[in-house]
Amino acid sequence: MGGRRKIGAGSRSEKMAALREGLKTLPYLVRREPEMLRVLRSIVEIESFSTDKSAVDRCGLLVAGEFRRRGGRVRILRNAARGNLVRIEIGAGRARESGQLLVLGHLDTVYPSGTLRRMPFRVARGRAWGPGTFDMKGGIVLALFAVEALRALGISPRRKIVFLWTGDEEIGSAASRATIEKEARRSQAVLVLEPALGLDGRAKTQRKGIGEIEILVHGRAAHAGVDPERGVNAAHELALQIARLMKMNDPRRGITVQANVISGGTATNVVPEFARAQVDVRFARARDGRGLQRRLLGLRPILKGARIEVRGGLNRPPLERRGSAWLAALTPDCKKQSEGL
Ligand SMILES: [Zn+2]
Repeated sequence: MGGRRKIGAGSRSEKMAALREGLKTLPYLVRREPEMLRVLRSIVEIESFSTDKSAVDRCGLLVAGEFRRRGGRVRILRNAARGNLVRIEIGAGRARESGQLLVLGHLDTVYPSGTLRRMPFRVARGRAWGPGTFDMKGGIVLALFAVEALRALGISPRRKIVFLWTGDEEIGSAASRATIEKEARRSQAVLVLEPALGLDGRAKTQRKGIGEIEILVHGRAAHAGVDPERGVNAAHELALQIARLMKMNDPRRGITVQANVISGGTATNVVPEFARAQVDVRFARARDGRGLQRRLLGLRPILKGARIEVRGGLNRPPLERRGSAWLAALTPDCKKQSEGL
């Protein structure tokens, strides 16, 4: 967020005025619930397993049509390997209001096509069920009807709002990451409509960064009985390295380093020439992530004759609370106000 002026960073009365305007949409949305469920059903019933491009594309087209019908300016961003991205804009976005708002989510699900047959869409006990309903077609429908409500009630957002629905989130977003980062950089705030946390619907305001590294240890094979002293035991070297990694854990700072997949060796009577570990790294602060990466990539062998290769690195930066606190601060107001309706 840098030093830019943040949305909602105005005076308390400004904030309350904006909230009051936003809350006008609530009674409208309550009335639209049957229609929301109908649209949700139609989106869920187009299954969209991440690796099934044509299925994800079909789902994207349906979502695009629903937004277009409600005044959204739609663009389909084609993608050769994975599902196309759907980008929608609303609002004039006056030049003075720097920065757009980005609403982000994904069209794909973890359910292979055909899951619907044994897990049909249904509403029971006050909840909607079906593959991808929770994560996160429900979120797309909320965004869609927020757009509808603004239009129906004649509320025009001061900023341009961009909705970006990607097609490969559940398999790591490799095909959409560059677009997400480009849009996010232009945005004053990014709201991700993934499911809320827990049954009381909490918003996630912080999240650890993630790194994945692989440590490859090369030693020297030797017969364990005849001439073990001629060998360099790669598994021993790896064990020493793992002991070193474990010392990097610092739960109080939100740092975890865990070697979770280990392999090496060929036979019980052979000193292993090779061993390998896959290491999961998590960190609450971006600065700590950079430090960890430096330390991990700089690992040096401990045993004489061993060689180490470290691959990989940081994969996702953390969402730090200092970047999202202003948004979290608005939430209790929202809740209090909506309870008065
Ligand atoms: Zn999701």
